[in-house]
Amino acid sequence: MRLVDPSTEDFIGDVPLASLAETDEAIRRAHEAFGSWRAVAPGDRARLLRRFAVLVDEHVEELAQLEVRNAGHTISNARWEARNVRDVLDYYSGAPERLVGRQIPVPGGLDFTFAEPLGVVGLIVPWNFPMPIAGWGLAPALAAGNTVVLKPAEATPLTALRLAELGLEAGLPEGVFTVLPGAGSIAGQRFVTHPLVRKICFTGSTAVGKRIMAGCADQVKRLTLELGGKNPNIIFADADLERAAATAPYAVFDNAGQDCCARSRLLVQASVYDKFLALLEPAVRGVRVGQPGLDETEMGPLISAAHRDKVASYVDDPLFQGTVPEGPGFWYPPTVLESAGRDRAWHEEVFGPVVSVRPFTDEAEAVELANDTEYGLSASVWTRDASRAVRVARAVQAGTLSVNSHSSVRYWTPFGGVKQSGLGRELGPDALAGFTEVRNVFMSVEEA
Ligand code: NAD
Repeated sequence: MRLVDPSTEDFIGDVPLASLAETDEAIRRAHEAFGSWRAVAPGDRARLLRRFAVLVDEHVEELAQLEVRNAGHTISNARWEARNVRDVLDYYSGAPERLVGRQIPVPGGLDFTFAEPLGVVGLIVPWNFPMPIAGWGLAPALAAGNTVVLKPAEATPLTALRLAELGLEAGLPEGVFTVLPGAGSIAGQRFVTHPLVRKICFTGSTAVGKRIMAGCADQVKRLTLELGGKNPNIIFADADLERAAATAPYAVFDNAGQDCCARSRLLVQASVYDKFLALLEPAVRGVRVGQPGLDETEMGPLISAAHRDKVASYVDDPLFQGTVPEGPGFWYPPTVLESAGRDRAWHEEVFGPVVSVRPFTDEAEAVELANDTEYGLSASVWTRDASRAVRVARAVQAGTLSVNSHSSVRYWTPFGGVKQSGLGRELGPDALAGFTEVRNVFMSVEEA
């Protein structure tokens, strides 16, 4: 695969894509490594993950620079992403020694459970957040005693390949964590059909996720899906409007809008609609779009020319737009559209720096509009009324809600979507449940 720097359009390297035979071979080696990896004493598995985290920490700058070139991420975001891999490894390094079962009171004997690893886990990662999404899968999967084969997106394999090298350097045995650049339709699809892959963690588009889910049915294969979003940002009249308007651009234009949690539907109470737009406009125009390697840059380019064309196809008669650098690079400006709810941009995931604004009259209408989508990943609610905040947060159908903020992913807390935004949860204290199978043993105890 020919890789291009999205901010310069310069060629940066060629990474061969795995054939079907190479994919089978990687899965076979991961399966072979499983037997000994699951038998590594929990304390030793924990130590290896901690060592892996230390090595990632020592290479944060290198990994971040790779992501700037390969994906056009801003350097400050890319550093956060590399540190997120470190933190998630650290967090789940506490898990192997705490993977406890239960002893359940039953008549006639003793009953106890084990949380057993599944085997080979196939991670399928999209191009928008190559590092964090890799970490959210691989850290808990390895902690639970599984082995992992990770397929990065075709366009963004570089940081994942480097992470695999760091894993080996940390002492992970061969075959425990493999990165396999490959095409979705070949390597990714093989994870679905190969019987030795026991679970798939897929993050990507809803359309591909549905096909993977259907394919997994054939072997009743375990599956976690993190799919698309069309997330509302709901601003009530009693909110801190200055703060809501100052933060709204970053809630959608971060990573150039290529974020499943982007708050791309802005619902504003009608009584403050004009006032809010007047505050929003300078905030949008103030977003610093530029060379992603510079510390002050807040938004970089889109991933590719084709993706920029797709994003542009949603925009017709913008209310206002920011600016972009001249010259090469896949740039698209921060864009605000006004919507009456009938346009494609209101309903479809644009996955670019485009936000649609629409007024609502009262709480009931805000909730109705927020829920008028097949997606349900994240949402923000801005109000100073605590009871309303709780009511709306409970009524809006989303997996990850945020009040007076735009928090989406915190590795301490569960993350995932409802409706067609996904299936299962990642991160947080319960993530290992998704990488283990509970097995129950009853042992008869004879009366004396
Ligand atoms: P995509 O679905 O095209 O690709 C995602 C991954 O799946 C890639 O690695 C791709 O090679 C692979 N793939 C493609 N076809 C496949 C197949 N038939 N079998 C197996 N694997 C296959 O998505 P994308 O364009 O790379 O990513 C953008 C999408 O990801 C957006 O919809 C976004 O919302 C979603 N996303 C969701 C989350 C989340 O956590 N919910 C996070 C990030 C991105």
